[in-house]
Amino acid sequence: MTLVFATNNPNKIKEVQALIPKHITLLSLKDIDCFEDIPETQLTIEGNAIEKATYIKNKYGYDCFADDTGLEVEALNGEPGVSSARYAGEQRNSNDNINKLLNGLENKSNRNALFKTIIALIINNKTHIFTGVCEGGITETKFGNKGFGYDPVFKPNGYQKTFAEMDLNLKNSIGHRGKAVTLLVNFLNS
Ligand code: IMP
Repeated sequence: MTLVFATNNPNKIKEVQALIPKHITLLSLKDIDCFEDIPETQLTIEGNAIEKATYIKNKYGYDCFADDTGLEVEALNGEPGVSSARYAGEQRNSNDNINKLLNGLENKSNRNALFKTIIALIINNKTHIFTGVCEGGITETKFGNKGFGYDPVFKPNGYQKTFAEMDLNLKNSIGHRGKAVTLLVNFLNS
């Protein structure tokens, strides 16, 4: 089985590749000569995941899946949520996004947050949705230099480390994307 993973994010590819069994060949957008920005214009995480997967299916014809992820912070009424990538502006810069987040939480004692990944899979012309959630908290400053995005300020519940201080296998085993990908793999195996 061959599936395209509709992302340009090399970190996401690394995380997902580690969980996909060998009998499934994962192609990146580069592998199918797709070098464009995939539209993400929807108002929900699920909508964006479906939009990205549908775009690739319609334009390139491959069975494929896309993931969209949001960080929802309780004290910020669920922000940045679907706007996580562009929280601090169109430059989509992770450092800027983290700084805006930490400023917004200054002096706030409620640091509860969750990551939500939604994967949209299009296979045999049907769309299937898989969701993974990881609850945790936002730290006061950045810790660690692994991972990507908001990883340096997100500490999952039950752990004394941020995602950016964990190796990929630990993040995958407890994280939002790992949970969604595990559901995807179970579905493909069934
Ligand atoms: P998207 O799914 O690529 O649209 O990601 C939305 C935003 O969340 C971007 O700023 C990403 O860097 C960030 N993000 C996505 N997944 C993760 C993750 O696993 N850890 C930390 N940040 C993430």
